Parts: sequence; C-alpha cells; structure tokens
Amino acid sequence: MGHPSIHEHIENSRPGVARLKVRSALTLMVAVCLSMTLIVIWEAWSSRQYHLHDKEVAMSNLAQTLASQAQSTIKQADTLLFTLVDRLESDGVDPGRLHRLQRLLSAQRSELSQIHGLFVYDENGQWVANSNGAEVGIPNNSDREYFKFHRDHPDRGPHIGPSIKSRSSGEWIMTVSRRVNHPDGSFAGVALATIYLSHFLQLYDSIDMGHNGVINLIADDASIIVRRPFNEADIGANLAKSPLFTQLLPSARSGTATIRSVIDGVERVVGYRRVDDYPLIVFAALNKEEVLAGWRKQTLLSAGIVLLLLGFLGVLGYRLIKLMKQQDRIQFELLGTQERLLELNRNLELLALEDALTGLANRRQFDLFIHSEMGRARRNVTGLALLMIDVDHFKAFNDRYGHLAGDECLRRISAIIVDNIKRPGDLAARFGGEEFAVVLPGTDYVGAFLVAEKIRNAVQAAGLLHDESPLGMVTVSVGVCGYDPASQAQSEDLIGAADKALYVAKASGRNMSVIAN
Ligand code: GH3
Ligand code: MG
Ligand code: MG
Repeated sequence: MGHPSIHEHIENSRPGVARLKVRSALTLMVAVCLSMTLIVIWEAWSSRQYHLHDKEVAMSNLAQTLASQAQSTIKQADTLLFTLVDRLESDGVDPGRLHRLQRLLSAQRSELSQIHGLFVYDENGQWVANSNGAEVGIPNNSDREYFKFHRDHPDRGPHIGPSIKSRSSGEWIMTVSRRVNHPDGSFAGVALATIYLSHFLQLYDSIDMGHNGVINLIADDASIIVRRPFNEADIGANLAKSPLFTQLLPSARSGTATIRSVIDGVERVVGYRRVDDYPLIVFAALNKEEVLAGWRKQTLLSAGIVLLLLGFLGVLGYRLIKLMKQQDRIQFELLGTQERLLELNRNLELLALEDALTGLANRRQFDLFIHSEMGRARRNVTGLALLMIDVDHFKAFNDRYGHLAGDECLRRISAIIVDNIKRPGDLAARFGGEEFAVVLPGTDYVGAFLVAEKIRNAVQAAGLLHDESPLGMVTVSVGVCGYDPASQAQSEDLIGAADKALYVAKASGRNMSVIAN
C-alpha cells in the first residue's frame, strides 16, 4: 500500500534541501569568480615582475657596456699621461725639450677625438706645456681641485677630478691627471688630460632611454661627472645620500635595483657597475612608470575582459539559481500534490474495503482479514471461528416488498449483527447478496455458536415483517465453524465448512444455528 520511494522523494525535497542545493551552486560560482580574480591578479603580478626584471637586465647590460666605454676612453688619455709623466721626470723641462714636448702633445691630442687638451703644470700651478698652442697665457691653475689633490697626495696613480668648465674654451670637460715628481720624490707639478663631456653625452644621447631615462657617470666620492639628460646644475652634484651609495654599492660592484632618485624624485629601474681601474661608477636607469606603461595597458585590457566574463558569469549564475529555485518550488509543489493524491488514494482504498449498502466490510476486506487472522491464529495457536449468516426466504421478501425494502432489510440485519459482536478484533462482512460472514478471532466453535444464536435471536426479536415467511417475520440461518490452528486448513476450507453447516440449517427448517462437524 505504501510508496516509500515517493515519500523519500518528498523528504529530500523539503525546502532545506533545496536551499542547500542553491547554496552549493552559489558557493561554486563564488569560488569560480574568486579563482578567476586570483589568477588575473597573480598573472598581472608575475607579468609586472617579469617586465621589471627584463628592464633590470637590460640596464645591467647597458651599465656594463658603458663602463667598458668609459674605461677605454679614460685609459687612452691616461696612457698618454703615464708616458708624459715618465718623460718629464727623466728628461726634465728645459726650454728646448719643452718645445718638442709641446709639439708631441699637439700631435697626440689630434689622434684622439675625445681629448680636449693635454697640459703640464709646474709645482706652482703655472702652465709649462700644452697641446693647444693657442692657449698660451691661460691663468694660473693652482686653485683647481686636481692640482691641490696631487700637491697634497703622493700617490702616483691617475686621478679623476670633478667635471669643470674649461677656462680656455668654455666647454665642459672631465679631468684625468697624474702627479709629476722631482727626482727626490717631491711635488714637481701635474700632467693633465681633459676629455670632452660631449664625447660621453653623444653616446648617451644615442641610446633610447625613454623620456625620463638617466645615464650617470659618477666619481667614487659620489659627485656626478656626466649626466644624461645634460643639465649644468647637475654636474658635481653629490649623490652620497642616494640609495646607490647607501645601499647598493656597499654590497656589490655591480647590480640592479628599483630606487628613487635623489635628484628628481623619480623611481627608476637601474643597473650600475664600477668602472675597472678607475674610481668611477656607471649608472643607467629607466623611468619605472614608463617601463610599466605597456604592462599597465595590457593588464587593464585583460582585467577588463575578465571583468566582462565575470559579469557574464554572474548574470548566468543568477539566472541559473533563479531557475533552480523555481524548479525546486515546482517540484516541491508537485510532490505535495502527489502526497495529497496518495492520501486520497488511501481513502479510496479504504472505501473500497467497505460495502456501500451496509457499511460492513466488503468481500475483499473479508478475504484479507480472514487470511491474516488465520495466520495469526496459527502462529499464536489460538482459536478462530467463522459464522456464515443467510437471510431466510429473502427472494420472497424482495418479491413481496420490493427491492428497496429488501435493501433496507439488509441494512437492519447488518446493524443487528454489528450490535451483537462486541470484541474489537471481530469483523462482520457482507459476503455477497443477502449473505453475511462474521470472523471471531480467539473464539472456539462453542463461543461462536453462542454469538450465532445471539444474532439469530436478535434478528427474530427485531420482528421485521415478512408475510411470505412461515414465522411471519424475517429470520436468518447460521453456519458455525471453528478453526483448528494445528490443521492445514485454508480460508476456503473454513468457508466451505461454514457453508455446509449453513446448508444443513436451511435444510433442517431454517432460523437456526448449526455447527460444522
Ligand atoms: P433461502 O431461505 O433458501 O435462502 O431462500 P432465499 O430466497 O433467500 O434464496 P436465495 O439465496 O436463492 O435468494 C437470495 C435472494 O436475495 C435473491 C436476490 O433477489 C436477493 N438479493 C440478493 N442481493 C440483494 C440485494 O442486495 N438487495 C435486495 N433487495 N435483494 C437481494
Ligand atoms: Mg443466499
Ligand atoms: Mg437466503
């Protein structure tokens, strides 16, 4: 009778389960959106790191190349100075030699395009010889930094001083100098080579460094020798406080980093390197904003696309969840309807077990009931009895009083039967036509016979008029049969036996109860 699978269905479709499903879908969507966002962020971040790293490598390579260029440019001038000092110290400076020296300097200078001039000063800073004949009579240079440096330091190595504006030509130059000694080792003067800053600037300007890129040639004391973009005010500026000198150079001779300039406050991706053999540092840097401009454009584009996708996904998810909710509601309603239908069905089934005319159990219920009660009696080894009751001369009653009166008579007899079986376990059924059956569980044939007699007497006592009957009133005959739980008898056997007893009662004159043997 029950449909457990459908009931389970209904259980599973309670609003809680539906909400769980919607929540799962929502969680999935949020997870997808979140992962997509995370992937985009991670992608953007690693691409940014790659962009920066790429430019750092480029700057490092550039610094390496420019350091080599600076080294060879200065080395050429310094080699000249070295031989010049050697010659001055061994040959002395008498006027004849000076004249030849002057010519030699002129020749050597014209060989090297980067050289602005070659000069020799005595211990008082007075000009002795130079490569530019026209510069005779230039003032005393004892106030220049390089002069003071060599006068005060006995080192024989090359010295690179701060960049200066030439007193003779007005051009910006870099100075490379060496000390000249008297034979006794005392200060005899200075040999000086000056190099055009424009020689460096021409190269630096030819390199694409973007709008805000910087190339610096810096002395060891942190003063700027040359800077691209060129600005007179920057020459000699001190970078001692810049991260290059406070953080980078102390830990490595060369490297890369992203730092903020102390000159213009711009953050740059830099490569730097110390120049071999000379106290100089080359520093090449690109504007970080410019480096990242391409990256930013690309990232914004992909973020836009992902945002669009997320929006699309959101709309899709929203509609999906709405649909799921709707579907769940419909399913729930459907199952509710199904439940109601089942309830109705159960009622119908119940109705189908009842006899419509008398309200007693019908034949179907009787069959089910006697079958299950006989099983129970067998299991519990208890008694069970069956009465078969048939109205006497009922055909004649119908013929005399009509069918409707016959129906009414059957209803009256039913009520009398029900009134006389008091145990809740007993069942009275309409077996068919004007025949009734009463099942009495837990009762033996003796007890059953007493019930049969009670019914028979009650029907007679009711005094239902029946002119066609010998007694002048309606009577019934009853067949009584007891069930032996130890026997193999089936319900058909029991009914058959009761029927036989009934037949005997009819044959013996009717209005009596007979026990089956
Ligand atoms: P007997 O004493 O031998 O039982 O005689 P009887 O006339 O009762 O014999 P029988 O069993 O052959 O007749 C039964 C009659 O009961 C036949 C039928 O007209 C009548 N009957 C059966 N069912 C109904 C019913 O639902 N309503 C009415 N009014 N009559 C019914
Ligand atoms: Mg009959
Ligand atoms: Mg009859």
